[in-house]
Amino acid sequence: MRKIRLTWEDTQKGPLILVTPDHPLSEGWKPGRMVPVMDGSPVLLEKRAAEMLGRLLKDLKSNGQIVPVSGFRSHEEQIRIWEDTLQKEGEQFTRTYVAKPGHSEHESGLAIDLAEKRDEIDFIRPDFPGDGVCGLFRKKAAGYGFVERYPAGKEAMTGIGAEPWHFRYVGPVHGRFMEQEGMILEEYIAFLKENTSPDHPYCQIRWEEGTCVEISYVDMRGKDEWLLTETEREHFSWSGSNEGGIVLCRHRKRHG
Ligand SMILES: [Zn+2]
Repeated sequence: MRKIRLTWEDTQKGPLILVTPDHPLSEGWKPGRMVPVMDGSPVLLEKRAAEMLGRLLKDLKSNGQIVPVSGFRSHEEQIRIWEDTLQKEGEQFTRTYVAKPGHSEHESGLAIDLAEKRDEIDFIRPDFPGDGVCGLFRKKAAGYGFVERYPAGKEAMTGIGAEPWHFRYVGPVHGRFMEQEGMILEEYIAFLKENTSPDHPYCQIRWEEGTCVEISYVDMRGKDEWLLTETEREHFSWSGSNEGGIVLCRHRKRHG
């Protein structure tokens, strides 16, 4: 049996962290291991996100028709992009399409901007249409853990203009659920926070892989720690929400 001890620090990392105008990356944020999204590419992503993107593109047989434009950005790089765009495009455009340094998902290594292959690709607003291989990407993305992060119609909630080129890695379990329910990350975290607890999880059954996943929200505000015990039949994975909680997945093996 393995004992797990979760603390406040765990609320600030993982694939479900909110990085928004209201929820900056935690102070002293250190990016994890970043790797090229494909061999020789200068575009980097967090390791697991890069692996899953690679698998998705392979599955699509996209043959280079989908081009990674921007992935992980250091804090300094985000400052430079913010200032450059401000100078070239003005304040309103910059506030709509570029996240303030410290508030960009790109600094987490969990976000990727994609473009359809063209001779010229716009770095800030790449074209990623809804049909062809890009449309196919949209259909399959959630199964590989990627969701369109800033869809049209949700601007009031995200505080960011619609960005059909910006995808966020949240992991396949959460990605599928969010897609099925039409929820963006803000809504998903709020849903789990309001409706679940470790004693009353949301159940997502995936018998085909031999396991059942129960999802719940642990409110860490006012708590020093949250203790878990793994057994042979069940183990845990988790991610912080970056707003005071931890989303817990309890993976249970099928009986019999
Ligand atoms: Zn982006």
